[in-house]
Amino acid sequence: MLKVGIVGGGIIGSSIATWLIGDGHEVTVYEREPEGLPASAGNASLIALPEIAPIASPGVLTAVPKWLLDPLGPLTLRWGDLPALTPWLLSFLAHATPGHGRHARAALTQLMTTALADHFAVGRIAGLEGHLRQTGYVSLHDSEASIASALHEAALAKAALGYDYVRLSPAEARTLVPELEGAFHAALHQPIYWMAANPLAILRAHQAFAVERGRRIASEVQQVTQHGDGIHIATASGSERYDRVVVAAGVWSRVLVRQLGLKVLLETERGYNTTYTDLGWNLPLPVGFADHGFIATPLVDGLRVGGAVELARPETSPNFARARAMREKMRRYVPSLPEGGTEWMGRRPSTPDSLPVISLHPRDNRIAFAFGHGHLGLTLSAVTARMVAGLILGREERAEAFSISRFQ
Ligand SMILES: Cc1cc2nc3c(=O)[nH]c(=O)nc-3n(C[C@H](O)[C@H](O)[C@H](O)COP(=O)(O)OP(=O)(O)OC[C@H]3O[C@@H](n4cnc5c(N)ncnc54)[C@H](O)[C@@H]3O)c2cc1C
Repeated sequence: MLKVGIVGGGIIGSSIATWLIGDGHEVTVYEREPEGLPASAGNASLIALPEIAPIASPGVLTAVPKWLLDPLGPLTLRWGDLPALTPWLLSFLAHATPGHGRHARAALTQLMTTALADHFAVGRIAGLEGHLRQTGYVSLHDSEASIASALHEAALAKAALGYDYVRLSPAEARTLVPELEGAFHAALHQPIYWMAANPLAILRAHQAFAVERGRRIASEVQQVTQHGDGIHIATASGSERYDRVVVAAGVWSRVLVRQLGLKVLLETERGYNTTYTDLGWNLPLPVGFADHGFIATPLVDGLRVGGAVELARPETSPNFARARAMREKMRRYVPSLPEGGTEWMGRRPSTPDSLPVISLHPRDNRIAFAFGHGHLGLTLSAVTARMVAGLILGREERAEAFSISRFQ
């Protein structure tokens, strides 16, 4: 039995904790804000199994200049933060090549192959049941070029993972989602998407499991240090020794990585949403507004409308006009959507190559890293948990595509 310390109690750190407790280890999770609502609490709840395309691609590059002209569009940059974001942006641009696209798709395919089964496995350990359901997903497209590009991606996902898809006319899409009263050109239906009933409920269930069967320290980790007798985790109230330490602190992992003498490019793609809990109706399945970069997802207890990307430093103040803009855009398609709801902003921890870091420290296999899951952190949380447990116990091969060595 190993004594393991985990820094960060988001969905990544909490799922790793559950997996390791299930394996019989003594686990302590450090979470500075146990009641907080990080990305893991407020995301769109999709288990997005076919999403193996990296964000950086030649196609995205051609669209970026147009998007950047619209401060409330699918992608914005907080220009005051440009100097801090420049190294990440340059690397992002360098990865927008067909060659990297093939590499990233192959790597993400490896994770997606077991992602769902791993969700059921980690859920069983935590005593979760009925928390996942297969809903399918419909994306709406305003032009032939947009649907053609989505069909191309869907074909690549089918070749890699075998998932079916079908192009729908607007009338066919309305038979699936009658609320789509506005005009659009075509739709894509992918039945393989699953949803978590509510991401906050799943996060809190894993966190509660760690409290009940392990230990939680509600403090900020200030430093992780290497010693002959183990790895020490320091907070303001003292330091404690562990056999193994996992750094899974979302975007804030970068601070600890640097203290450990390593480099990483990790920034936030921030997203905004609005959650309605009192609409009196809900969508029958999640709907994506592909040309506007946001989605509407039916949680078990409400409708969530949001997404888009705002590149900014984690501490920059939110701009909730972006949440309002998405509600307004959704009314073009679903005129019955009212005002109201609760607005939220979350920080996707993102690498410039759209691949997470699931890795041992290159020179110290007592330390593991698990962060940078970008748009797919809920989807990939359980497979990450299984892999990290395997890595620190020496039963899983190191996967180069996810190694922190790629940043050194
Ligand atoms: C709008 C939006 C929609 C999304 N939709 C989806 C979706 O549908 N499907 C999907 O798969 N993914 C989705 N995501 C992405 C997903 O939410 C993230 O990838 C995921 O939540 C990241 O989890 P994490 O645990 O790495 O980070 P976080 O959720 O950020 O958690 C990190 C935790 O570490 C703690 N912490 C940080 N530093 C320290 C420290 N020094 N000491 C102690 N604690 C510390 C923080 O308090 C925090 O609780 C979405 C994200 C956004 C913003």
